[in-house]
Amino acid sequence: MAEGGLAGTGASDPPGGLPALWTPPLAAAAPRGLCTDCGVSRMRIAKACGRACQFIAPDYPAAEAAVHGRARDPTRPDELHFGPFRRMLRASLREPRAGAQWTGIATRLGERLLETGLAQAVLTVAPTPGDPWRPRPVIVTRPEGMAACRGMRMGYAPTLALLEPALEAGLRRLALIGIPCQVHALRKIEALLGLEKLWVVGTPCSDNTTTERFHSFLALLDPRPETITYLEFRADYRVELRYADGRVRFVPFLELPIAKLPPDFFPLTCRTCVDYTNVLSDLTVGYMGGSGRQWLLVRNPRGEELVQLLGEELLVEEPESRGRRTGPVRAYAENVARAAGGLPLRRMPDWLRPIAGRMQRWFGPKGLEFARTRVEMKALETVLHLRRAARAKMKHMIPEHLWRLVEPYGLRPEPGERAATRSPAPAAQAAARAGTEAASAAKASPPT
Ligand SMILES: Cc1cc2nc3c(=O)[nH]c(=O)nc-3n(C[C@H](O)[C@H](O)[C@H](O)COP(=O)(O)OP(=O)(O)OC[C@H]3O[C@@H](n4cnc5c(N)ncnc54)[C@H](O)[C@@H]3O)c2cc1C
Ligand code: SF4
Ligand code: SF4
Repeated sequence: MAEGGLAGTGASDPPGGLPALWTPPLAAAAPRGLCTDCGVSRMRIAKACGRACQFIAPDYPAAEAAVHGRARDPTRPDELHFGPFRRMLRASLREPRAGAQWTGIATRLGERLLETGLAQAVLTVAPTPGDPWRPRPVIVTRPEGMAACRGMRMGYAPTLALLEPALEAGLRRLALIGIPCQVHALRKIEALLGLEKLWVVGTPCSDNTTTERFHSFLALLDPRPETITYLEFRADYRVELRYADGRVRFVPFLELPIAKLPPDFFPLTCRTCVDYTNVLSDLTVGYMGGSGRQWLLVRNPRGEELVQLLGEELLVEEPESRGRRTGPVRAYAENVARAAGGLPLRRMPDWLRPIAGRMQRWFGPKGLEFARTRVEMKALETVLHLRRAARAKMKHMIPEHLWRLVEPYGLRPEPGERAATRSPAPAAQAAARAGTEAASAAKASPPT
């Protein structure tokens, strides 16, 4: 619902001279079962967790139809793996931004939305003073505030709890940059918020854990973990570490100290999360399918508008795809099954690991095939971990498309593990599509 006084304010300052970046006081999290503290339980509508949460009873076909106008279509190339999209791009900013995780597309989009007045505020996370790895939810109301948000932090932040303070401050055109479990909950409560406009930039997400646990991982990687300023699991099967003194170090995945981590290093939430690629965002900004560059999935007309906002700043190419995923995914599935709920370790003598690491870089799946590999690995993990740790949740948590992803590896639903189909009927989907596309077209023009 548009607020008459705010509609059409263009690129003007946010109301009330708000700070460029701020964290309002937030309520405590309410106790929940499987929960990544997305922020809903801290809101006045905390009871909405029941229908908002991706760990309770998500209905992806209905949610995809509501947001994009149609659910994923497994007959279209790559939609079974990546969700609904209009086009995919391999992309980078011509001028990469200092401190960004990759080149900074995500935060540059936030800047552009604020510069143009298309959004009055961006809700996202920034480093916590004293612990740069700990995400802190922030409301950013001026473009210059976005630079502080660049980079990836490990941990959970109740970003959605910022919605109520933002609304109370009179902000009605909002953007969120967030991870899939936040975006799922946001979409389910979106209609309650009465926003004039909502832009959703999503990043893929996998293997998140608490910031405390992440610090213990850094301590295994380096005797001076406090000097590590950047970490990324790259698409070339290596972890890149950057240090405060400018050094850069690459550690092949196979040489990571995984065996020294406790079996529950990754919480069950992140071992069983079903939405790797953030299918309910307008635009997904990741790297997995980008072969060393970034990877964009433009999912709907708002996603197209976001890409257009970057104009010539963005260097774009067609994504490539090389190699075959079946062998690596099958081997991974065997390791996950053997790990019996713990971390999947490769059985291999230490001397062989550097050689196997090089072979993986040369011959492993690349580009889109790498992204499909990771999505299938995550799907297998979800089934195997839930089957072991929370079998009763399977029929509610596992969407139908996930069973199709794991089927080639011999995993099929056992009695009681599969839900009755909840997909909307084709006619309902078509109606939803028509409604959403019309609404998006109406929203496509910037405020005047
Ligand atoms: C825990 C985690 C795991 C990820 N795993 C993958 C993956 O497996 N494959 C893949 O393709 N991409 C993954 N990403 C996304 C990737 O790291 C980059 O963020 C993305 O490619 C955008 O890069 P950029 O340079 O455009 O981002 P930047 O411009 O540097 O902006 C990064 C944005 O991410 C937000 N952010 C940082 N940490 C968090 C957090 N903990 N929670 C919520 N938001 C956060 C920041 O606030 C900022 O808005 C992951 C991100 C996170 C947070
Ligand atoms: S909706 Fe968010 S806060 Fe509520 S249970 Fe799920 S992750 Fe936790
Ligand atoms: S892996 Fe999934 S559940 Fe865990 S933080 Fe990322 S999106 Fe949320």
